[in-house]
Amino acid sequence: MKPAALKPPALVLREWTGVFTSELVLSPSACGLGHLPATHQPAGVARSICGFCSTGCGLVVHLDATGQAIGLTPDPAHPVNQGLACPKGWEALTPLDAPDRATTPLLHGRPVDWATAANAFRDSFKAVQARHGAHSVAFLSTGQIMTEEMALLGAFAKFGMGMRHGDGNTRQCMATAVTAYKESLGFDAPPFSYDDFEESDVLVFVGANPCIAHPILWQRVTRNPHCPEIIVIDPRTTETAAAATQHLSIAPKADLLLLYCLAHWLIRENRIDRDYIDACTTGFDDFAEFVQAYAPADHLAALGLSAESFERAARTIADGRRVSFWWTMGVNQGHEAVRTAQAIINLALMTGNMGRPGTGANSITGQCNAMGSRLFSNTTNLLGGHDFTNPDQRQKIADILGIPATTIPSEPSWAYDQIIEGIESGAIRGLWMIATNGAHSWINQARFRELVGRLEFFVVQDMYSTTETAELAHLLLPAAGWGEKDGTFINSERRLGLSRQVARAPGQALSDFRIVRLLADAWGCAHLFERWTSPAATFQLIKECTRGQPCDITGIRDHDMIETAGGIQWPWPDTVDDRLPHENSQDARTAGKARRLFADGRFFTTDSRARFVFEAPRAVAEPTDAEYPLVLLTGRGSSAQWHTGTRTDKSAVLRKLHAPDLAVEIHPDDADAIGLTDGAPARVTSRRGGLTARTRVTPTVQRGQVFLPMHDRRVNLLTASSFDPYSRQPNYKHCAVRVALVDAGAK
Ligand code: SF4
Repeated sequence: MKPAALKPPALVLREWTGVFTSELVLSPSACGLGHLPATHQPAGVARSICGFCSTGCGLVVHLDATGQAIGLTPDPAHPVNQGLACPKGWEALTPLDAPDRATTPLLHGRPVDWATAANAFRDSFKAVQARHGAHSVAFLSTGQIMTEEMALLGAFAKFGMGMRHGDGNTRQCMATAVTAYKESLGFDAPPFSYDDFEESDVLVFVGANPCIAHPILWQRVTRNPHCPEIIVIDPRTTETAAAATQHLSIAPKADLLLLYCLAHWLIRENRIDRDYIDACTTGFDDFAEFVQAYAPADHLAALGLSAESFERAARTIADGRRVSFWWTMGVNQGHEAVRTAQAIINLALMTGNMGRPGTGANSITGQCNAMGSRLFSNTTNLLGGHDFTNPDQRQKIADILGIPATTIPSEPSWAYDQIIEGIESGAIRGLWMIATNGAHSWINQARFRELVGRLEFFVVQDMYSTTETAELAHLLLPAAGWGEKDGTFINSERRLGLSRQVARAPGQALSDFRIVRLLADAWGCAHLFERWTSPAATFQLIKECTRGQPCDITGIRDHDMIETAGGIQWPWPDTVDDRLPHENSQDARTAGKARRLFADGRFFTTDSRARFVFEAPRAVAEPTDAEYPLVLLTGRGSSAQWHTGTRTDKSAVLRKLHAPDLAVEIHPDDADAIGLTDGAPARVTSRRGGLTARTRVTPTVQRGQVFLPMHDRRVNLLTASSFDPYSRQPNYKHCAVRVALVDAGAK
């Protein structure tokens, strides 16, 4: 097959760099993007899905005669990215060659073979369980590995090892959306397709910065032919806010209050869709009574908005024919995150903006397989979006997997924070972390490290031996990375995509799938997983687990069908089910078409009606005061960086595309008051710790706020252990700090 031509990423780079460096245009040959030496002529190609973010871009990987990757280009035929990729995608192969790849198991820092490692895993964790009970060992998984791997991992941990507690790093990004959708719509079901970016005439982004967090999705917005109004609700003037037609620069964590004020205005002005409300929802009258207390004029000061800007946005939403609402971490990582997400859902429902092209209350996911984790990680949900506490559902899964139902825990898992806090109480004595770097990314980092240090046995499974978390491990298991194994991801629009092996893992590193199989052998429970022989075979098992669920994918024949279709959105059942809006066809081209949920106005609740869920706003966990007078906001720094940088920092190209050092953004008035000048070293301190950063004086943050990008390993020394009460998602978006000029003796 002839390889696709290299496509200059100029368009993407213009969008990604936003208004700040809009003239920056790089070609692959100039900057090394694409990783394809001109002297190499590919012998073939493989189609794959990018393993960074939840957009799920299709990539064409160029192979040499031995089937090894020598470069990649974005897939022009893929329905998601249509020939574009952000810088991370172009550089997806580079992290595989990093010199700090974990290439052999390390037991207390000493290289050992796999048999020794597996026996240590077994003996140490069984000893912990013998001393403290089966539930004293827990696992923390990830949204970065393949669906089939996370399903096997969760099944082994809970059905084989007898654990009750296991959660994922998806708790840090998507737990809020999960809880909100379940309570409001009856199932964790993001309703949209990416086509909605192009079909809206009004797009409302709440706490979302797709210009750099999801650049390819922003590219879809720029293709919208309807000259849409774009409203951004965000305390910061982000790249997306700067590109919007309206920016509501609200006070930090005033989003729930604003959404209730918008609901009040829409009801008062009779700009709601009463027919839709009556036919498809329940609880509206109580909600309307509740928001009577949120007359906008009474709350403008708290919101930090003028009456004109509020009313202009409200009228824009009311006048829109196809209004879509989008949210990400600015909402999900808050102290009242679930109710905020549900307030967005309420707006979509009350205006009838659901189930039609260009509409929806749409959560954009973070990691490449966060959506797979939500359904198949066997952490807080039983496989296939089932409920551990439901005996019928336990029996159903047991029958499908051919295991005794008694092996399935009947109680749900603790959340991530409860597992970590369980170390302090002595309930958790052993921990297995897979493909996540909690010692960098978890909130209130010093406490995380202190608690992990108390574990009797701590296992880390990762591509790299040098992550902050891997360096704390008693046992390190070397894992293959993206591109070194086969399996599926599920992207933000519910699209299953197939990622292919295009490179050999280094040394003794194995795929997470093979590692878990090996550990199950050592544990003595391999008989439970006899049919889990490969990712392809596992796909057949997990798809059967979805039968009859809203996420039913029993109509997807196999991995090849996914690849041929360019990805398939769930649901895709093998039977006609008029409760689900789908096209019951095995035709691969039809399967790949974009589809949205709730076109029929029927939801996954018991009465098929969506719920209005609401609650009065809460006080923030750590208000500012005289000692700590500034609010710290954290977030993504650039589109060239991914989370804790374990992969993106390996690329010299990506490192050139963001600031080389940590910069704290501060408003000019605050900088003046403190005596800080642009570029000066500043000390940022919270009640938990401090760090020194370069001052960046900028009006993109408001007075009283500072911003730090989350990618630096020190930033979570500052953040506070505060969580949404329903989703238990950490609140990374608000804590109190002070900033001072660094004196000569400060470190
Ligand atoms: Fe696409 Fe996300 Fe990969 Fe960038 S990181 S190429 S936006 S999937």
